Amino acid sequence: MPKQTVIGNWKMHGSIGQIRSVVPELVRAGLGANVALCVAYPYLALAKSMLSEAESAIQLGAQDVCEYHIGAYTGEVSAGMLADVGCEMVIVGHSERRRYFGETSETAARKVRAALDAGLLPVYCVGETLTQREEGIARDIIAEELQVLAGVPTSLYAVAYEPSWAVGTGVVATPEQIAEMHAFIKRTLNARTRVLYGGSVKGENAGQVLAVDGVDGVLVGGAALSATEFLEICREAG
Ligand code: 13P
Repeated sequence: MPKQTVIGNWKMHGSIGQIRSVVPELVRAGLGANVALCVAYPYLALAKSMLSEAESAIQLGAQDVCEYHIGAYTGEVSAGMLADVGCEMVIVGHSERRRYFGETSETAARKVRAALDAGLLPVYCVGETLTQREEGIARDIIAEELQVLAGVPTSLYAVAYEPSWAVGTGVVATPEQIAEMHAFIKRTLNARTRVLYGGSVKGENAGQVLAVDGVDGVLVGGAALSATEFLEICREAG
C-alpha cells in the first residue's frame, strides 16, 4: 500500500523564525515525498532553500494561485512563479478562500488549470457547510464543486474533502461521514483519484482518520504549526 499523504497548511500563520525552527525538525525526522508543507508566499523561497540544502524529499506548496499566467494583476502570484521558487503543489479552492474572498468553483477550476499548465499538483478543496449538511444537500454541493473540473484528467489533481464545519473548529468528521463522502467523491470522479480529508486533524485523531476506507491522506491546518504534533500525524501515515 502506498504511503498516505500528509499536507500541512500553515494558512496565514508563521514567520521566518518559525520556518527556521520547524523545517529542520521535519527534515531530521526523515520525512519523505508523501509529506508537504504549504506556507505563506513570503516564506516559500526560504523553506525551499532549507529543504534543498538538507536534500529533503518533503514537498513544498502554496495555498492559492492566480488564474492568469502573467500580466498586470497587482498583488497576484502566478503558477509559473510558484514553480520557479520550487513549489510542487498548490491548494486551490480552500473553504476560507470561498468564504472570505468570494472565490467560486469556476474561479477555482481556472486556477486548477493554471497550476497544471505550470506542472504543479493542484489539491482542490471541496466541502459543505453545517447548514448544507443538515439540509441533506452535502452530496449535491460536493458534486457541484467537482463538476467544474469536468474535462480535467482526474489523475492530474488531488481532492481534499474539508467540511467547513470541521475546519478550525476542533470537531472532526466521524469515520462514517468521512468514508461516505470519500466514497462518493471517488465514485463521482474516478476510483484512482487521491482524496484527502481535512478538518481538525491532530496527532490524537490522525490514526483514526487515516484508517478510514478511501482516505489517501490528510490536509492539516492548526496542528501543522507544531513540529511535534505534525510529526505525530506523519507517523500515523506510515
Ligand atoms: P484545521 O486542521 O485547523 O481544522 O484546518 C484544516 C484546513 O483547513 C486545512 O486546509
